[in-house]
Amino acid sequence: MSATRSEPIAERVARVADAAAAAGVDALLVSAPVNVRYVTGFTGSSGLALISAQRDDGARTGGHRFITDFRYATQASQEVAEAFDREVVADKPLDAVAACLGSAGGRLGFEETGLTVGAHRRLGERLSDGWRLVACEGIVEGLRAVKDAGELERIRAAAALADEALSSLLGEGIVGRSERDVATELELRMRKLGAEGASFEPIVAAGPHGALPHATPRDQLIGGDVLVTIDWGAKLEGYCSDCTRTFATGAEISRRAREVYALVREAQELGLQAVRAGKTGREVDAVARAVIEQAGHGEHFGHGLGHGVGLDVHEAPRLSRTAGELPLRPGNVVTIEPGVYLPGELGVRIEDLVIVTEDGGEAVTSIPKELTVIG
Ligand code: ZN
Ligand code: ZN
Repeated sequence: MSATRSEPIAERVARVADAAAAAGVDALLVSAPVNVRYVTGFTGSSGLALISAQRDDGARTGGHRFITDFRYATQASQEVAEAFDREVVADKPLDAVAACLGSAGGRLGFEETGLTVGAHRRLGERLSDGWRLVACEGIVEGLRAVKDAGELERIRAAAALADEALSSLLGEGIVGRSERDVATELELRMRKLGAEGASFEPIVAAGPHGALPHATPRDQLIGGDVLVTIDWGAKLEGYCSDCTRTFATGAEISRRAREVYALVREAQELGLQAVRAGKTGREVDAVARAVIEQAGHGEHFGHGLGHGVGLDVHEAPRLSRTAGELPLRPGNVVTIEPGVYLPGELGVRIEDLVIVTEDGGEAVTSIPKELTVIG
């Protein structure tokens, strides 16, 4: 399937070129695979995009180039947008960058998160003398944070698929099954429903294990009358979903478990209500965090309130105490996921995936949030 069909690649390339120019570079080397996909449409694992920041003729850097190795020649011809001249090389695409740039010289931006130290050194050794390497941070990531209509459609579809997979699994019960069995089965069901896979390894954590925010599913069987946290997501056409629900496996859970659940649910609801374009990630985090702090559980909520979701399951923008001052924008897709973790005892996390709009947020998750007993 071509990833380029419905994507406004030409518009993205123009915006990356503008952002690169604003960052003061003559060309930008896009090398992080997810960014290459976003900018070119190429879904393979070995490709580079060289974006010329000069808007007129691009003479100095030779226009926009896409470079891959021979294994991906066919795929590149099918997927890479026409805005790019395609180069297929026999060996490492990175080694062809210097030849593409020639000897005119200038500033070549590279992605801080897209080059290893070794690759950076190799590139520097091959570039002709007039070229200087300049680290650029978050140019493509910044653009990716605001989703277009086609991207939102895929994220909604991924979330709906993930919900369907979990609902069907819960219908068969989870008590007496191992956490690992439930997690594996959930991933399998998402694949059967058409997902490329899970957007991350599902978390299934029962009882005291739920106090680990990133618990790895164990072989231990899930018992009755405990809380079970399930954090899962699907990947569909490259786009991720991410959701968490905490269930009870019987009506006899402790009073403390009920209290903590009610607290997290309230914090999550207020966090959701606080989402809107113009608010900063720090402000939204503070709204939900205040509720948990007032209940004396501030120290048990150690992570940020949420994160952006798109081609990556964790991307910009962040909602946390240390998030920057950039306001949320319409088209951001973020999670709202407060949690309270009592070591050795229990954990509760509730997470929704939310599309930021001018006047609020649209949650794309459909699984109910009342404390639900699953046998
Ligand atoms: Zn999650
Ligand atoms: Zn999340």
